Amino acid sequence: MSGMRPTGRLHIGHYFGALTNWLAFQNKYDAFYSIVDWHALTTKYQNTAEISQNVIEVALDWLSVGLNPEQSTIYVQSAVRETAELHLLLSMYTPQNWVERDPTLKDMVKMLAANHEEALEKVSYGLLGYPVLMSADILGPKANLVPVGRDQEAHLEFTRDLVRRFNHFFNVDYFPEPKPEFTEIPVLKGVDGQKMGKSYQNDIKLADTEEDTIKKVKQMVTDRTRIAKSDPGHVDLCEVPWPMYGIFGKNISSQVKTECESAAIGCVDCKTRLGKLINEFLRPIREKRNKLAKNPEEVIKILEYGNIKAKKVTQQTVIDVYEIMGLRYWKN
Ligand code: SF4
Repeated sequence: MSGMRPTGRLHIGHYFGALTNWLAFQNKYDAFYSIVDWHALTTKYQNTAEISQNVIEVALDWLSVGLNPEQSTIYVQSAVRETAELHLLLSMYTPQNWVERDPTLKDMVKMLAANHEEALEKVSYGLLGYPVLMSADILGPKANLVPVGRDQEAHLEFTRDLVRRFNHFFNVDYFPEPKPEFTEIPVLKGVDGQKMGKSYQNDIKLADTEEDTIKKVKQMVTDRTRIAKSDPGHVDLCEVPWPMYGIFGKNISSQVKTECESAAIGCVDCKTRLGKLINEFLRPIREKRNKLAKNPEEVIKILEYGNIKAKKVTQQTVIDVYEIMGLRYWKN
């Protein structure tokens, strides 16, 4: 099980950092992929205008890269209201200091507020409960595996602790302890050499036009010591284009290295060539996306199909949890 917040169109960092692994997992596992719109509210509760459209944008990106609704359960978090019910039930078993020390939450608070006073004003009850909601996302379909990078292992530890506490408390072996499925995540820098991110406006989006992609690639930071075209370049000092050649132009990387180090090619031409390679790679994804985008009703139908599948599974989990807790599950 994994999810993404609907904060906008996805970029190539999402593709290589998460989606390629998700594609592999859907062939191996019964995969659940959720567009987590409630999570978007934890930090964007004052600015909700774009969330609904962004759900569709993320769905378009997922479907155009090849996530298959027949293989994976692709759904919207808020459509499976049983997840909120599970969140509430789990919250009763979550010690307050667990949520306060959660590393993900600490990062989000830092992002949201510059100081303690601001944090008191801006950090909502919903944000504090973020790790419990994330646990409900994972435990709703009783997921065994969650794809994470090695640096994110701690994020999952919260859910594992909560599972152990719940199972121990009721003396059951009901929830599986979700294990991290480690994925090798290549670090893709944005065009300015910083971490690639939507909010930094340094990303190359899956949905960008070819012209925009070329324009962005031309802004990439290269070898800062190379001043004139006649200066030999150093691929090791080339901040963005050279690592990108490692992804989009592996077969010509030795040629690029030779041309760079002998000053046979200037950075502008080198980046134009890279831009074309990126466009070639993304072309089939973009063609599929453009076709799907013309028919948003079809995308909504695909999501509704996934919503029903996810709801069925999560509803059963909630019924079981009521029973384990010794409460009556009232049908409505
Ligand atoms: Fe980087 Fe290419 Fe310029 Fe060499 S020629 S520094 S690889 S952009």
